[in-house]
Amino acid sequence: MYDCVVIGAGIAGAVAARKLAEEKGKKVLVIERRSHIGGNCYDEQDDYGVLIHNYGPHIFHTGMEEVFSYLSRFTDWYMFGHEVVAKVGESLIPVPFNLNTLHMVYEKEKADRLEKKLIETYGEGSRVPIMKLRENEDADIREIAQYVYENVFLRYTMKQWGQKPEEISPEVTGRVPVLISYDNRYFQDKYQGVPKEGFTPMFEKMLAHDNITVRCGIDCKDVLSFDGDDIYLEGEQFFGDVIYTGALDELFDCRFGRLPYRSLRFDFEHYDKDSYQGHSVVNYTVSEDFTRITEFKFLTGQQDADGTTIVKEYPFAYTGAAGEIPYYAILNDENQALYEKYRALTNGMKKFHLLGRLAEYKYYNIDAMTKKAMELADSL
Ligand code: FAD
Ligand code: UDP
Repeated sequence: MYDCVVIGAGIAGAVAARKLAEEKGKKVLVIERRSHIGGNCYDEQDDYGVLIHNYGPHIFHTGMEEVFSYLSRFTDWYMFGHEVVAKVGESLIPVPFNLNTLHMVYEKEKADRLEKKLIETYGEGSRVPIMKLRENEDADIREIAQYVYENVFLRYTMKQWGQKPEEISPEVTGRVPVLISYDNRYFQDKYQGVPKEGFTPMFEKMLAHDNITVRCGIDCKDVLSFDGDDIYLEGEQFFGDVIYTGALDELFDCRFGRLPYRSLRFDFEHYDKDSYQGHSVVNYTVSEDFTRITEFKFLTGQQDADGTTIVKEYPFAYTGAAGEIPYYAILNDENQALYEKYRALTNGMKKFHLLGRLAEYKYYNIDAMTKKAMELADSL
């Protein structure tokens, strides 16, 4: 009945399913464990009519034309330059730390001197990871590095990862470099924004194709099984391609031990007033137990809701307990080695493909995930 099975209706699964259905004429079955499509990009109106992102704030950003134009088939966009501020003491300072931030935290003469030195050392417009900046031996640059380390990275990273910046993969802190420019935007990509009507309608359109069947509320482990390298769908051997976007350790009952992940608790609060913080995202880089507060109406541009809804994010170590969701792979050599052990179990299954943040144990953004899903579908 089906030519392909896709496990998971997040961006990875949805893009792959659409391309296989539309461009390869395959009959695709999408199986999703949650009650809805969209994966972590899912959004919906809350009880007060405010459009919220149920799994944390998602801003689409990309410099990849092919990704932007592919997704644009399924949505119009509300485009904006996404800006984030960090609450440091009583001040709100722009993050990533940039030349505007520099002039906010130092008095003019000193800031001018430091700016000149940063430009001479790294070049105007460059992006310097905090861990690189800290290696510089110049006393002035070390002072800036120390300020940024202590006020932007140290405590936020401790909350998010339970580890210091120097203990986690430099790839992670490198996502938010010090910018030697006056650009206050969080991302420097050409395209940034959110789907105009929300992410969920974009997914609905993507999955609305005669060749696609979506079944939500079903765990793939209830319908898929393995015997050696053979795959069975509801008891019958399945010879088509299977794309799996869930966690790889779970698929094999965590037989080598759990792959470590960070999870998040989202606390939503609604206020009967126009604005809570006046910014879409405020990072709490020195105080509080939560990492950041998002105020959705400043992210989605929604005008027609009364009141405002915010979310606070509390990170914790994923344990696999019922109801917990693994959000972030913890990138290090030990975890990668464990991941490779699981991956080796799939080596003999030529039609079984691992795709996605969970299945590949990687830190993908929406755009990179879309690109990877497009490439996989093209290759099948
Ligand atoms: P997911 O969205 O996790 O989808 C996987 C799906 O598979 C899920 O729906 C899951 O329920 C389903 N599944 C898993 N196991 C099974 C099973 N056994 N049976 C059936 N179904 C199963 N990226 C950006 O580009 N911009 C952002 O601003 C941004 N913000 C983020 C904020 C947070 C808090 C987080 C956690 C991530 C953020 N991301 C952001 C990353 C973005 O969420 C991912 O790139 C994207 O969701 C990855 O898509 P995916 O399909 O791989 O995974
Ligand atoms: N980070 C930080 N302070 C900030 C912003 C980011 O310490 O104000 C660090 C933190 O370790 C975080 C990483 O940089 O996990 C990457 O941040 P990003 O915003 O890219 O994380 P994500 O969007 O994936 O939550």
